[in-house]
Parts: sequence; C-alpha cells; structure tokens
Amino acid sequence: FASFGRPNNTGTKLMSLSGHVNTPCVVEETMSIPLRQLIEEHGGGVRGGWGNLKAIIPGGASCPVITREQAETVLMDFDSMREVRSSLGTAGVTVMDESTDIVKAIARISYFFKHESCGQCTPCREGTGWMWRVLERMAVGEADPSEIDLLLDVAGQVEGHTICALGDAAAWPVQGLIRHFRHEIEDRIANYRSRRANFAGHAIAAE
Ligand code: SF4
Repeated sequence: FASFGRPNNTGTKLMSLSGHVNTPCVVEETMSIPLRQLIEEHGGGVRGGWGNLKAIIPGGASCPVITREQAETVLMDFDSMREVRSSLGTAGVTVMDESTDIVKAIARISYFFKHESCGQCTPCREGTGWMWRVLERMAVGEADPSEIDLLLDVAGQVEGHTICALGDAAAWPVQGLIRHFRHEIEDRIANYRSRRANFAGHAIAAE
C-alpha cells in the first residue's frame, strides 16, 4: 500500500470529480496522481476542453481555489497542494469552467458555512455571516474597492481564532478567491459604478 504515491503522501484515496467535467465520478486512485491526469482519465476532461478551465477547488468546499496554471502541474497529495496554498482535504474536486461566476460561487460557499456555524464562538458566528453578506454585494459589484482588503482582514481574524475548524474552513475559500481573482471583484465594482453613473446621467438629462 505504501508503495503508491510519493514519500510522505503514500497509499490510495477515493477522489471525486464534480462540476464542469464530462463524466463526474468517484474513483480510487493512487496518491500523488497529477490533478490534470485525474480529470482527463476519469472525468472525461473539462467541459469545452482544458483551455476552458477557470478554477478548481481541489479538496472540498473549504479548500482554497487554485487556478488553471496551478492545476496544470499540481499533484493530488498533501505536500503538492500545500505548495499551491490549498489543501487535499477530502479530495472532492470541483471543476469550474470559464462560464463560472467565481465571486458568486465563493459567496454560495460562504453561505453554507454561515448556515453551518453553531454560534458558540464570536469570530465564526459573526464572521461567517459578515463575509457572506459582503461577498453577495461584491458578486453584483455593490461594494467599495477598499472592502476587498477589509474582507481579507476579517477572514484572517476568523482563521485560527475559533473553537473548531469550521472557522478556518469558512475563511480559506474567501482568501483563495481574493488571492487569485481580486481583479474580477475589482472589475465588477468598476462596472457597477459605471452603470450607476450612466443611470444617474440619464436621469438628470431626462429632468
Ligand atoms: S468555529 Fe465551530 S464551535 Fe465555533 S461557532 Fe463555528 S461551528 Fe461553532
């Protein structure tokens, strides 16, 4: 059994593929299999081809999202996932193609953790709901650019400051989103503001 995988990452593991793959499945594979190989051999590839890949959550909802460039070479094991600042977690891989609204997707994950919070500790009870509400606004662009760093700061205050691991699990997806897709949030805020400015301009002209 220990001959499978790399040193420190040995054995086999049940790995699941869901989201935008052609053949979602659960498969028992050797540890350290390249993520791209896993997707192409068992998932039938990314919908629309590898070039249509936007991002991957490699190990369940709490694991920080990784980019297509990272997914190109990362291995399905503990050490390799740590190197890309994510986690193997449950090896429940969620594949998201270019059609994905990544801000909305992470907002939805935040809602899940807010819903699951038992409320015993303040950073999780207050922080999960706060992060979810900010992300919902950011998903439509109704936010201030300075709130991106504020959100990152709050996620850092939740992480490591709670009784159980749910606080960490709620913070990590938010951190992954801002690490890799900050520009999408910024674009959305800019578009929202420009639409509002146009609307205000038309309203004044109509008067
Ligand atoms: S971190 Fe755990 S114990 Fe604390 S409120 Fe969240 S779910 Fe409850």
